[in-house]
Amino acid sequence: MTGEKIRVVLATGNPGKLREMRALLAGLPVEVVPQSEFDIEPAEETGLSFVENALIKARHASAHTGLPAIADDSGLAVDVLGGAPGIYSSRFAGELASDRDNLMHLLEQLKDVDEPDRVARFHCLAVWVSHAEDPVPLICQGAWEGRIAQQPSGEGGFGYDPVFLLPDGRTAAQLAKEEKNRISHRAQAMSCLVEKLTVLLGRG
Ligand code: IMP
Repeated sequence: MTGEKIRVVLATGNPGKLREMRALLAGLPVEVVPQSEFDIEPAEETGLSFVENALIKARHASAHTGLPAIADDSGLAVDVLGGAPGIYSSRFAGELASDRDNLMHLLEQLKDVDEPDRVARFHCLAVWVSHAEDPVPLICQGAWEGRIAQQPSGEGGFGYDPVFLLPDGRTAAQLAKEEKNRISHRAQAMSCLVEKLTVLLGRG
């Protein structure tokens, strides 16, 4: 691998995700520049799957900056809701909904559902495109299993973390950020992407 760092645009405007992804990419010879540092309108997420939306976001960021791009698309799938909110996780309670609105909407939807049926998982698709029309993007996937708690607890993380219950009884919002960054859906997808990028960038 050369000593030079490659500038890469990270196609997210979500500060929680940006923090996590920067930490996860720290070992790579890349200078990560968030999309928010450019004058770019967010991409319209018109895909029907996480991978389609991740690629739409990465291609959009790359087209507007001329840089390679990394993007992820992630969300929560709740079995008893047929996989909802899924790709609509960030707008479950409406277009302008806050994280808190979405989480309260989820608890409302599950108010009559007992503990054993509150099974859910976070999905994350992380992608790299070398340029906007890259025909061979790198694609990685992670999934994190849990259940939806009856009440929010914990101060850390973002999004649905306060209601995402792990097998040990803590919510994702009760984990130290280093711990979440080792085991989460995003950590799994990003560590796969880092492995693939180490090979790709190592080719010079
Ligand atoms: P995206 O920005 O389109 O990928 O939407 C992701 C949405 O899924 C976020 O706004 C959150 O609502 C939810 N989400 C994804 N990853 C996490 C996580 O690690 N913790 C909590 N919520 C998450």
